[in-house]
Amino acid sequence: MSGGDMAKPLLGHRSMEGDPSVTPAAGRTVGVLGSGDFARSLAIRLVCSGFKVVVGSRNPKRKAGLFPSAAEVTFQAEAVKKTDVIFVAVFREHYSTLCDLADVLAGKILVDVSNNTEINHHKESNAEYLASLFPACTVVKGFNVISAWTLQSGARDGNKQVLICSNNQEAKRTVAEIAQVMGFTPVDMGCMSSACEIENIPLRLLPAWKIPIFLALGLFLCFFTYNLIRQVIHPYIREQKNKLYKIPIEVVNTTLPCVAYVMLSLVYLPGVLAACSQLYYGTKYRRFPDWLDQWLQHRKQIGLLSFFCAALHAVYSFCLPMRRSHRYQLIETAVKQALEKKMNIWVEEEVWRMEIYISVGIIALGLLSLLAITSLPSIANSLNWREFSFIQSTIGFIALVISTLHTLTYGWSRAFDENQYKFYLPPTYTLTLLVPCTVILAKVIFSLPCIQQRLLRIRRGWEKGRYVKFVLPSATGEYSSGETSSNV
Ligand code: NAP
Repeated sequence: MSGGDMAKPLLGHRSMEGDPSVTPAAGRTVGVLGSGDFARSLAIRLVCSGFKVVVGSRNPKRKAGLFPSAAEVTFQAEAVKKTDVIFVAVFREHYSTLCDLADVLAGKILVDVSNNTEINHHKESNAEYLASLFPACTVVKGFNVISAWTLQSGARDGNKQVLICSNNQEAKRTVAEIAQVMGFTPVDMGCMSSACEIENIPLRLLPAWKIPIFLALGLFLCFFTYNLIRQVIHPYIREQKNKLYKIPIEVVNTTLPCVAYVMLSLVYLPGVLAACSQLYYGTKYRRFPDWLDQWLQHRKQIGLLSFFCAALHAVYSFCLPMRRSHRYQLIETAVKQALEKKMNIWVEEEVWRMEIYISVGIIALGLLSLLAITSLPSIANSLNWREFSFIQSTIGFIALVISTLHTLTYGWSRAFDENQYKFYLPPTYTLTLLVPCTVILAKVIFSLPCIQQRLLRIRRGWEKGRYVKFVLPSATGEYSSGETSSNV
């Protein structure tokens, strides 16, 4: 998982928190147009934060009971007259109905909190549309990424960032100031042209997770089919045995660790490819191909999905002995052994294999939990860069090595047993070892002093074949200039 991911704020824009120009503004009167869910939550939060609130409604008598008694609920025009900052908690399609208020709104700050139902729904953003309807007002886009629920519960739950944009710096500062007093973190997103981007944010469904989820599903499907063929279809075709009961737990439980293990190795593989590219080109300034860039950016999500599959595998494994099929098989084996008068059934090698296998698996899961926890923004923010990279990079690599041991102790000598090759297909675990072992081998090679040194130099800015200017005295005593390679 990339260290940079967590060290950065959620959005790569300037946080206005701690900006000396942003000063507390509690006590100011703030207006809210509309009396719906968002308006109500906003009014409650503003009142709790020490603001005087005046709500403008088309029907103040009917709506007054919904608001805290400290908030004044009045007609729209009355409310607007009493304040300079007005939150427009009304849907875009009703903006035009506010045009009668144009005169009283002139010169005031309108905060557009609206969202759309679809990404890029309209040609212009809602905030730009509002600004076009009220040219005498200053429009600020903001608060739309905060839900009514987050507003009511304070900034303790949910997203704390309030993204703000406007063409007017002063108005933007005023709204940032209000957000900060309410316990949110204002983030300056620049001028009004960013409004469209801000309006699209709440509509995006897990944008950073799409690729990792498809990857995990794809791997799950491949390994599930492979295991199904080996564990269910093969016994049916070869021995006419019905093993369909294995599908819900056994097949799933042999698939999950494969996905978890391969996904974990896919967290570290792009780093290896990036290092190879840097070594090959002898520079860190050459752009990686887009697919590698994308892959590097999704390492955190891939790692978390790996942890998710590993945790499910642990729960499934824990439940294996609870199954009826397992109990019947145990009894059947015991009866067979009794009939064969076998007294000593202890196989020392199997006992050791199982003890090591489980112990190593528990350690691997523990390390994966640590990686998952430290990738959470709240925890990552409390670590310095060295601590973060030690956990994500060094401990992460140790987790991969221990997972490999877990897989190897599971397989033990099965790879050399020809009965394990169903339809000539090798045991699943041998396939899963391919990528992780490549990553481990590459990491070992990169740790060789000669390669490590070169990589370190490249990462500190050294470039292969970079030419530097030099000046040499000629035989005649004149100076001639030329170029030479810096690494000669
Ligand atoms: P809502 O419950 O439907 O409230 C909308 C309010 O608009 C009504 O209560 C109404 O108040 C007022 N309004 C003014 N003119 C109107 C007209 N011509 N027709 C109908 N209503 C009119 O909606 P909401 O959930 O509070 O959302 C309000 C705005 O906040 C929307 O733009 C939404 O995108 C944005 N937002 C909401 C949330 C959320 O969690 N709900 C989150 C982020 C952003 P009066 O009858 O008192 O005039």
